[in-house]
Amino acid sequence: MPGQFAHIASQDGTDLSYTDALTGLGNIKRFFDKVDRLIQDRAEDPAPFTVCIVDLDGFKPINDLFGRKAGDDILQQVASRLKAAVDNNATVARIGADEFAVLLPLTFSEDSAFERARMLIEVLSAPYDVGERMARLSASVGCSLYGAGDDTTEVLLSKAESALYHAKHSGRGVVIVYTSEMEEAAKRVTRIEQALRRAVAASEVEPFFQPIVDLETRRLIGFEALARWTDPDLGAISPAVFIPIAEDRGIIGQLSQLLLRKAAEAARTWPDELFLSFNLSPSQLVDQNTGSQILSTLEMTGLDPRRLEVEITETGLMSDPASAEKIMNHLRANGIRVALDDFGTGQSSLGRLREFHFDKLKIDRAFVSCILTDRPSEHIIRAILAMCEGLGMDVVAEGIEEEEQASKLVRFGCQSGQGYLFGRPADAEQTLAFVRHSYQMWHAARIA
Ligand code: C2E
Ligand code: MG
Ligand code: MG
Repeated sequence: MPGQFAHIASQDGTDLSYTDALTGLGNIKRFFDKVDRLIQDRAEDPAPFTVCIVDLDGFKPINDLFGRKAGDDILQQVASRLKAAVDNNATVARIGADEFAVLLPLTFSEDSAFERARMLIEVLSAPYDVGERMARLSASVGCSLYGAGDDTTEVLLSKAESALYHAKHSGRGVVIVYTSEMEEAAKRVTRIEQALRRAVAASEVEPFFQPIVDLETRRLIGFEALARWTDPDLGAISPAVFIPIAEDRGIIGQLSQLLLRKAAEAARTWPDELFLSFNLSPSQLVDQNTGSQILSTLEMTGLDPRRLEVEITETGLMSDPASAEKIMNHLRANGIRVALDDFGTGQSSLGRLREFHFDKLKIDRAFVSCILTDRPSEHIIRAILAMCEGLGMDVVAEGIEEEEQASKLVRFGCQSGQGYLFGRPADAEQTLAFVRHSYQMWHAARIA
């Protein structure tokens, strides 16, 4: 990469194409060069070394708040703090707008890489002078160690980048050192992604259906569709694993369309009064095509929109509430009901229940599972039920496994329930048999 650039020398002989004009540090090309050279040196003397990528947390808002000049000042201060914090044999470079790289030739172990990176964060967290004012910043660091001898500069830096990615996702001021477990986990995710792409193209992911019942009468009222997938090589993979991967890698739209089509086809074989509940992923609530895709799938399969409910989570509302609201309004205007799933586990805010209108709320299994033993859970459930009544929302309690849980919920006034006690998720064929059986039982009970 560095070799392809022409070298321009300044009057004092510094190579400008290798220098970051703002901070005077080396730039990414210089950094690449340094790491390349160190890898060559270490070919004869295979000792490890460390590269760190330091990313400032929340630099852009500071730039906006204090102005560009102040932003530049801060970057210069960051550069000099980093240089002052490392030994002479280390290299500091600026490799992006608010990203710096540090090469530590004498840092040989994961533990010491971690310690050094923590120290860098410490140094950067002291306040910055910006004219009359002070600004504070934190930083995240991803590190990787040159070890096995087969890593190239590109590989080493991309490992540090993926460690940084994990650090950024774990909060501010975090250090993560790339490990072989992370490498294995990253490989597994890619393997699942590839297999899932193939499975979606071949229509091999199936919706299963779990019954939802009226708690008092035990009458069947609908089903939740839950995705199931078994890959020939990888085996059965839980939706808790593959749905987030599908979201992350941009497959969720296609996957969801496939599942909804199959689920709607199955629901068409059930009596009309049974509803179908379908989960939407957070990323689908920022995609304005979601509404029309759902509606066209319903039209194609002939399922009445009034029989469909979509389940969304609080996380789904957070990234872009305005977009989520638009999609929800579009769906509701067409007769589709909207349920808030897993209530009580996300970053719950009661304010959301005021901002958004939901037709239904699903109380998370975490509360239901300890309703018999844990007083606080019992109080929380009662409070949720009272609130739903006030707001005119239906309620479903999720994850009911025991008869006593069901009867306690009935006593508290909870209308409907879902859980292994009433049925596990089953495929379309078994579900149809289940529907027929429940209707026969229900009929027989009414006649008797
Ligand atoms: P969820 O929407 O909250 O679904 C309920 C989960 O609880 C399901 O797990 C269900 O099998 C499980 N469950 C139901 N009753 C019981 C019970 O009595 N005991 C216990 N221990 N578990 C019970 P599952 O099928 O593994 O799905 C996990 C999550 O994956 C779902 O949570 C949902 O968030 C997501 N998911 C599943 N299918 C889809 C889908 O088609 N699209 C999207 N976007 N997400 C899906
Ligand atoms: Mg759900
Ligand atoms: Mg749920």
